[in-house]
Amino acid sequence: MKLIFATGNPGKLREAQEILGNDFELITPAAVGLTEDIPETGATLRDNSLQKAQYIFERTGMDCFADDTGLEVDALGGAPGVETARFAGPGRRSADNIAKLLSVMEGCTERSARFRTSVSLILGGKTYLFDGVMEGEIGLEAYGDGGFGYDPVFVPKGYGVTAAQISEEEKNAISHRGKALRAMASFLKEQ
Ligand code: IMP
Repeated sequence: MKLIFATGNPGKLREAQEILGNDFELITPAAVGLTEDIPETGATLRDNSLQKAQYIFERTGMDCFADDTGLEVDALGGAPGVETARFAGPGRRSADNIAKLLSVMEGCTERSARFRTSVSLILGGKTYLFDGVMEGEIGLEAYGDGGFGYDPVFVPKGYGVTAAQISEEEKNAISHRGKALRAMASFLKEQ
């Protein structure tokens, strides 16, 4: 069964394909001629994942899914949330986002946070939503060169190291995105 995954990121595509297994063939929007940037203007992670999936469905009529992820920091009232990618500005640079996060949290002892992923699936024209969460804390400094995004400052709960210091397999097993994708995979396998 073919499914479009609204991503241009080869790492995400590989991770989702591994989770879904060989019964599903994941293809990118570009593979069906959708090469433009897909709008993401929602007020919540769910709005954004839904907006991206609907954008693809309206143009292709094919089964498809999209994800959106945010970092929720308790001391910041849940920010940056839906603004996670552009926390330090439209450049979306991870180094700038990390520098801003460490600076706004300077002196802050309450450092609990979580990554949340919303996945929206459109199957046979119907919409289904899946969520995944990874709890943890924001470190005092950046450590590690694995992973991506905020990984060097995110210490998953129960780990004494950052998400940038653990293997990709280990991270996928505990990550917000892995959990949301596995929830979608078990739903799809029941259909
Ligand atoms: P996206 O929705 O996957 O594009 O992610 C939104 C923002 O969250 C981007 O700034 C990513 O770098 C960041 N992000 C998403 N997933 C992770 C993760 O697993 N670790 C660290 N940062 C992440």
